[in-house]
Amino acid sequence: MQKLFKLIIPVLGLAFIVGSCQKDRSVDLASEVVPQNIIDQIARMGFNPDGIERVEEGYRIERDIIITEEFLSENPTRHIVPNQEQYSTNNLVSTNGSRVITMYAPEGGRNGYSAGMIAGLDLAIARYNSENLEISFQRVTSSGGADISMTRLSKRDERRGVLGSAGFPTASGDPYGQIKMSGILESTYGLSTGGIATIIAHEMGHCIGFRHTDWFDRSISCGGSTSNEGTAGVGANHIPGTPTGATLSAKSWMLACTDGGNRPFNNDDQTALDYLY
Ligand SMILES: [Zn+2]
Repeated sequence: MQKLFKLIIPVLGLAFIVGSCQKDRSVDLASEVVPQNIIDQIARMGFNPDGIERVEEGYRIERDIIITEEFLSENPTRHIVPNQEQYSTNNLVSTNGSRVITMYAPEGGRNGYSAGMIAGLDLAIARYNSENLEISFQRVTSSGGADISMTRLSKRDERRGVLGSAGFPTASGDPYGQIKMSGILESTYGLSTGGIATIIAHEMGHCIGFRHTDWFDRSISCGGSTSNEGTAGVGANHIPGTPTGATLSAKSWMLACTDGGNRPFNNDDQTALDYLY
């Protein structure tokens, strides 16, 4: 019985934290004071403005999507909301047929990642590379010039259960350059390498232009009441060949919320990756 509890609690813990942080949103807003004009602007862009958080890079929406000040100033318009599955942003990474995206993550120490977290990153990279896409990823051990740097979230965010965050590709066709990733997925939550790889691959997905599979109704993966993330100025373009309607059972890697489990690319995920890249 004791063993059973040890296996189950971390996963329940994640699910609980995801739920409880959503309830804490008003507290975050009050304590971090996002200006009303920014909230209005984000709402006009089509994002769900509930729970915007001020973070180092700009503003964090829906717990893992980063909107920079620069992006806010470039994207004033509102877009129509469709209702189908597998979605990309308007901006994608330009490949010119083939492009290697380098990734750096600090190893060890208080502000680096454990060997288990690095193994998760390597598995995430291997999953993309085994799809034989026009983009591939390569981990580099020097931060200089890396296309995407993966760095630790604040200790406060890690403790309250934020898993990771990233943004979307730039207008000039580069991937978003920074993933903020929790460093305690293995040590505190006990996630498997596959579970860690799933979360990192999810944030990499945002960096190359993937929206959430269930962005139109986050309750599909997050539970709770129906919640639409909006099209957000960045676009939510249905990817041809993928089905309408998201389900939790299909376990897309781009579902908005995770239970900490392993979600390798399913058939529709592979169709979407192959279409874009
Ligand atoms: Zn996400």
